[in-house]
Amino acid sequence: MVNKKGKVTGVTRQKEEEERKENVTTDEEMDLCGKCEHVVKDGQRGLECGLCFTWFHAGCEKVNKEEYDSIKVIGKKAQWFCRDCTGKFSNLQVANTKLKEENILLKVENQKLKDRIGNEEEY
Ligand SMILES: [Zn+2]
Ligand SMILES: [Zn+2]
Repeated sequence: MVNKKGKVTGVTRQKEEEERKENVTTDEEMDLCGKCEHVVKDGQRGLECGLCFTWFHAGCEKVNKEEYDSIKVIGKKAQWFCRDCTGKFSNLQVANTKLKEENILLKVENQKLKDRIGNEEEY
């Protein structure tokens, strides 16, 4: 009795594992929308984020047809970033711009000092 039961559960477990494996492979092959978690099909307007490599339906990310077409025209590999990443990205860009501005200011200060030294040497 015990042996039979054990065998039966063993078989069902194997079946379940096989099914799970199949599910995993199909999940990997299909791109799920990061917003609605539905498959982004070939015929649908889908966009892959260039930063987190997540797929989104154009509609889910509120990208209208014109925007979508312009993104596709730019290149085969669309440089598009999802809303999450755009938020992070713009923060980075702001930080970067500030650094650049500081750098320019430093250069200007540096040049002023050099001019001053140069002038002092002439006198
Ligand atoms: Zn979606
Ligand atoms: Zn992203």
